[in-house]
Amino acid sequence: MNANYPAPIQRLILLLKSLPGLGPRSAERLMLWLMGRGHTRIPELAEALVHLRNHVTECPACGFFIERGAACLFCQSDKRNQKLLCVVESAADVLRLERSGAFSGIYHVLGGKLSPLDNVTPSDLRIESLARRVHELQSEEVIIALGSDVEGESTAHYLADLLRPLGVRITRLAQGMPAGGGLEQVDELTLHQAMSGRRLLES
Ligand SMILES: [Zn+2]
Repeated sequence: MNANYPAPIQRLILLLKSLPGLGPRSAERLMLWLMGRGHTRIPELAEALVHLRNHVTECPACGFFIERGAACLFCQSDKRNQKLLCVVESAADVLRLERSGAFSGIYHVLGGKLSPLDNVTPSDLRIESLARRVHELQSEEVIIALGSDVEGESTAHYLADLLRPLGVRITRLAQGMPAGGGLEQVDELTLHQAMSGRRLLES
């Protein structure tokens, strides 16, 4: 970094370039924008970040983001099919499926995938509450929308074994998903097709 910048600027650049997707050049470009045309936006941006930290949390049911004290846009919406539950790895996957327009049920964000090598066990994921939700909601179908890598496959089978005794139909996304890949590797059309053509997960 250019050491000729005043210390507060150097501090900001250090902070910005530590963020995902921002390298040193884009951090510097953003700083220059903030010091120029973006100067009047600084208080608004700062306030939005603090507000985000203080007022946005995870929905206790599905794990997606909610504003503290407000209803979940999925779990508490009568526009969504509450009997259709889609299990995904992350909040980003919820956004991908929403963009694809292929799904009108509700979600369950696991928070990762089972991975013995990385010491990720069922108790590290939102799995216990999944079984409870399926029971309480009397779900008709659980769609397992995890990647087709080894961890995704083994997590899918673990979940299917756990949920099958509850008498719920368990499906997974259709073929067409790239082998070994997660939802982040497919475009919206493919995701739409994978959702429409979902198939029963056999034991
Ligand atoms: Zn929710």
